[in-house]
Amino acid sequence: MAKTADIYFKVDPWKIIEEGFDPAYSRVSESVFSLANETTGVRGYFDEGGSVDSLRGAYVNGVFDIERLQRSYRGIVDHTHFMIPAAEWLKTEITADGEKLDLGQIRFHDFRRELDMRAGTLNRSFVWETGSGQRLRITFLRFLDMVHRERAYQQITIESLDFAGEISFTSGLSFDSVHEGYRKCFWQKPRCGQEQDMIMLQAETAFSGQEVFAGACLSLPGEAATEAQESSVCLKSRIRLEKGESVTADKRAVILYSGSKGNELWAQGRQALAETGQVSTEEALLAQKAYWEAYWKTSDIRIEASGADTEEDVAAEQQGIRFCSFQLAQTYNGGSMRHNIGAKGMTGEAYNGHAFWDTEACCLPFYLFTNPEAAKDLLLFRYNTLPRAMERAGMLDCKGACYPIATLNGEEACSLWQHASLQLQPGTAVAYGIWHYVHLTGDEDFLWEYGAEMLLQIARFLYSRAARGGQTGKYGFYGVMGPDEFHMMVNNNAYTNYMGKRTLLYAAETLDRMRQACPEKMDALKKKTNLAEGEAEAWRTMAEEMYIPRDETGLIEQHDGFFNLPHTEIDDVPVSEFPLYEHWSYDRIYRTDMIKQPDVLMMLYLYNSSFSEETKRINYEFYEPRTIHESSLSPAIHSILAAELGRMDEAVRFFGYATRLDLDNYNRNTREGLHVTSIAMAWANIVYGFAGLRSDGDVLHFAPRMPERWKRLEFSVLYRGRVILIRMEKDGSAFRIAEGEPLNVRIYDGEYRLDTGELTVSMAE
Ligand code: BGC
Repeated sequence: MAKTADIYFKVDPWKIIEEGFDPAYSRVSESVFSLANETTGVRGYFDEGGSVDSLRGAYVNGVFDIERLQRSYRGIVDHTHFMIPAAEWLKTEITADGEKLDLGQIRFHDFRRELDMRAGTLNRSFVWETGSGQRLRITFLRFLDMVHRERAYQQITIESLDFAGEISFTSGLSFDSVHEGYRKCFWQKPRCGQEQDMIMLQAETAFSGQEVFAGACLSLPGEAATEAQESSVCLKSRIRLEKGESVTADKRAVILYSGSKGNELWAQGRQALAETGQVSTEEALLAQKAYWEAYWKTSDIRIEASGADTEEDVAAEQQGIRFCSFQLAQTYNGGSMRHNIGAKGMTGEAYNGHAFWDTEACCLPFYLFTNPEAAKDLLLFRYNTLPRAMERAGMLDCKGACYPIATLNGEEACSLWQHASLQLQPGTAVAYGIWHYVHLTGDEDFLWEYGAEMLLQIARFLYSRAARGGQTGKYGFYGVMGPDEFHMMVNNNAYTNYMGKRTLLYAAETLDRMRQACPEKMDALKKKTNLAEGEAEAWRTMAEEMYIPRDETGLIEQHDGFFNLPHTEIDDVPVSEFPLYEHWSYDRIYRTDMIKQPDVLMMLYLYNSSFSEETKRINYEFYEPRTIHESSLSPAIHSILAAELGRMDEAVRFFGYATRLDLDNYNRNTREGLHVTSIAMAWANIVYGFAGLRSDGDVLHFAPRMPERWKRLEFSVLYRGRVILIRMEKDGSAFRIAEGEPLNVRIYDGEYRLDTGELTVSMAE
C-alpha cells in the first residue's frame, strides 16, 4: 500500500479538533468540518469569509442546475446537471474600530475549531489582536437542525479582553455564491423582504427552474438597519464595546426547498421562519443534543485498546469510526426518497453532488443494519427514477433500464462517455441492493410492488447488452469498464459478467416466484412491461452460459488480456503523485496492470458465500499488490477480505486508512470534499471485517477476528425488529438479543440460537 496518513487534527473520542490554523489545510479543514442534516449541507468555511483559500459551499439537497453539452455521438449525454452552491445563510462581516475581520490579514492566536459529534455542532474561536494591539475573543457556533430539517443556526460572540471601541456586525443572506468549476452564479430573479428582525430572500436557478427560500430571524447587538442589494439582504449594526464586555449576534435561519414556487414557496418559507422565531437557539441546541444522544445510543461502535502502547492508535481509530458514522448519518437518514447519497454528500463540488453505484454496493449495508426504512427509501429513489433509466437504455441502443453512473435526479449526468456508457455496475448494484434488502428484511411486498419491475428492466438491459464471444462461445459483456476505472473498454470483465449472471438469475427467479405468490400482480406487471413468453427463460440461459474467466487454481482474470499487461510496482509511485488524476496524463493510467480499486475482489466481497476461501486467497494475493486504492471504496474491502483470510496486520492497516481516509487526507484530495459513500465502508469494515458478519447466506453468520491491539469491540445491529448486541474480547465474543425475538445464527462453523441471555463463543485462532 503506497498511501500514507497526513496527520493534522487532534485525536479525541467525540470531537474533531484543529488547534492553530494552517492556511495550507484550509480546504481540508473545511471539508472535515462540514455539517449536514440531509436537506442542507455546509462546509466548515469561515462565516466572515476573507482572503483565506476557501470553497464557500452551502448546498441544498436536490438543488442543481443544468448545462447543455455540445451534441456529439448518439448515446453520449447532451446535457448534465450538478449541485450548485445555494443560499448563503452564514454571511457575516465584522469590523473592530473599522478593521475588518479577515483571518488571512489580521493578527490572531489561540485558534481552535471543533466539530462536536455528540452535539452536531461546529465551534470556532480565536483571539484577535487588532492593529492597535487590543484583543477580542471571537467565538462562532453553528449547527443544522436534525429535528426540523429546514432550520439552521449561527451564533457569534465577541468578548473584549482589553478592547474598547466600535464593533460593527453585518449579517444576512445571499444567493450570489459562484460554482467554483463553472465560475458562475446560477441564481436569478431574487426577491427579498423584511419584517422587523426577519429577513427573507428567494431565488430561482437559471436552467432547472428550482426555487429556494432562505430566511433568518436576526438578533444583533445595537440598533440594526437593513442593507439590501440585488441578491442579498442583510442587517447591519454598530455598538460600542468596553473592556471586559461581550456581545452576541444570533441568527436562526430557514432554508426551504419544497418543490413549490413563487408566492406559495414564499408563504411557506415565511411561515416556517415565524415558527423558527418562536424557539431560541439554546432550546434548539438542546433538541439537537438529544437527537445525537439517541443516535449514538443505538449506532455507536466502541473500541478499547489492549494496552498503553496501543492506546494512541486505537484512540485515532475510535475517533475515525465515529466521524464516519456521524458524517453518514447527517448526510442521509431516509428523510426523503427524493434524495440519494452523493459520493461527497454536500461537502464539496467535486463529483457534482452525484450519487453513484456506491449507494447500493457500499452504503446500503450500513442502513440495512441501522435504519432499514432508510435503506428502503434509497431503493425507492431507484424505482422513482426507473423511467429515466429506461430512456437511457434506449439512448444506448439497448432495451430495459440502464441506471446512471452519476446522478442527482435519475438522469445520467456523467459527461465522461467512457464511464456513462461503459460502466454497467449501477444496474447490477441496484439488483444486488434489492436482493440484499429483501433477503434481510423479508419485505416481499416491496419486491412485488417495486423490486420485480426494476429487476425485469435491468435484466432486459443486460440481456440486450451482452453478446456471445466469437472464441469462447459463451456470453459476456464487450466494451465495458468494470469497477476498476483504470481499464477502459475491456471485454469480459469478470465482475460485470458475474454480476450480470447473478442479476439475470435473480430476475428470472423473482418473476417465477411472483407468478406463484401473487399471480394478479404478475399479470399486471406483464401487461405494464410487455413481458414476452420465454423472456425470463432466455435470461436464465444467458446466465448459465456466462463466461467467467477463471483458471484451474481459481485465479480470475479481471478481463480478457489483463494478465498480459505490463507490470507497475505500485509502492514505487511517490506520494507526491497522488491523486494520480492530477499528476498522470489520462491515458497513462490505462496501460499497465495497476488497478484503481477492487474489481475481482469486489465480487468476492459482495457474493462472499459463493466463493471458497481458497479462491479468495489466491485472488487477494494476486490483486492486492496491484491496487493503488485511488478510489476511497478500496481500502475497507481489502481490510474485510484480509481479516477473513487471517491477514490481520493488513486488515488493521487497511482499516486505519479506511476509517481515517479524510481525517488523515490519505488520498490527498479531502480538500475537494469528504468521501461520504466510502465512509459507509468504514462501518462495514468493522461489522463485516472484524466481526466477520456475512449477510448473503441463509442465516446471519459471524466470524469474529480481533486485532491484537484491541481489547474490546462493542456494537449493535438491527435485524428484523431485533437489536443484537455484540461484544468482542480477546478470548471470546458475546452475543445477546437486547430487543425482539430469539434468532438462529451461525458463529464460525457452529449453529446457535440467540436470545436475551448472553451467549459467549471463544475467539477462533
Ligand atoms: C470510483 C467509483 C466510484 C466513484 C464515486 C470513483 O473514484 O472509481 O467506483 O463510484 O469514485 O465514489
